[in-house]
Amino acid sequence: MTSDYYDLLGVSRDASAEEIKKAYRKKAVQYHPDKNPGDKSAEEKFKQIAHAYEVLGNPQKRATYDRVGPAAFDGSGGGMGNFQGNVNFGGGNFSNPFDIFNEVFGGFGFSGGSGRQENNRGSDLRYDLEISLDEAFTGAEKTLEYRRSVACPECGGSGSAKGSKPVACPYCHGQGAININRGFFQMTQTCSHCRGTGKLNKNPCRVCGGSGRSTAEHAIRIKIPAGVETGTKLRSAGGGEGGVNGGRDGDLYVVIHIRDDGRQFQRDGANLYSTADVSFAMLALGGELEVKTIDGYGMLKIPAGTQPDTTFRLKSKGMPHMESSLRGDHFVKVRCRIPTSLTKEQREKLEVFARSYGETLDGPQKEGFFQRIFK
Ligand SMILES: [Zn+2]
Ligand SMILES: [Zn+2]
Repeated sequence: MTSDYYDLLGVSRDASAEEIKKAYRKKAVQYHPDKNPGDKSAEEKFKQIAHAYEVLGNPQKRATYDRVGPAAFDGSGGGMGNFQGNVNFGGGNFSNPFDIFNEVFGGFGFSGGSGRQENNRGSDLRYDLEISLDEAFTGAEKTLEYRRSVACPECGGSGSAKGSKPVACPYCHGQGAININRGFFQMTQTCSHCRGTGKLNKNPCRVCGGSGRSTAEHAIRIKIPAGVETGTKLRSAGGGEGGVNGGRDGDLYVVIHIRDDGRQFQRDGANLYSTADVSFAMLALGGELEVKTIDGYGMLKIPAGTQPDTTFRLKSKGMPHMESSLRGDHFVKVRCRIPTSLTKEQREKLEVFARSYGETLDGPQKEGFFQRIFK
């Protein structure tokens, strides 16, 4: 195989990792043996593009390829032997084109593929955090304390007692996977003896019993941006469970819940809603009313003749938007407050007022105040 790997995938030499992956995907589907049964040249092409992707899809190998060319990887010349001694390629060692195919496609609908799952990354964790509406308004900083799984401090995650080292699993020869021939396809299965790690503990660590894991208290400080809502997810990279064998730590997802603190504000996104009780006199005569807002007070101008349940807007007095410095609005619905007790004098004046509308309050009402209004 002396073809240029970039030519094989049909990409330029400065193609991005994403472009290379896309190009490989397209070609792999085109030449997959499932789609070309019995076609030896398609099978050969499939192997070649898998090999090209194995190199170009890995930043370290790609850099080596760019420097040295295909001789570093084709396995036919002297370059190969020297190379593996000096360069740590990291990651999986794909010996089988179906392994790489599977890695790119995940559970794609083709048969044949690997069962090897060397997932060293720690799991993600979820933390449900309750905050007040005020904290959602201003933003906040919080320290979260929780327990998480980490590498065992005694053995450093190896699972082996001090002084003893894990040995390569004799069943899979340290590969973590076993190849099985099934007719045309070579299948790869996770080794059940070492559970895919490729290593066995002869002398397990007495603290973790060989699992290499333990739990520890962990504390992180997170910044909650102003404007968060119930259901907002914040990610704290590396705040999840510890990785194993050099894998990176998982992430912590903090899910925000806004506490219902009994205040009069309803919220819809960045807008706030509240109600204000206003006297009949103010609705009829008009006036100014001070209403409580999330960060202080706002003035409502009530025009004369305002009907009950009219909604007014206090512009930019709502919650902040998370992605900008703008604020939502605060809507106030005015309700009519009816006095429940009147002095003799107040009562007489109201009766005079009612009679001025031609209303009789204590007889059969024919054309009274309300009848006239609703006619
Ligand atoms: Zn241990
Ligand atoms: Zn094994």
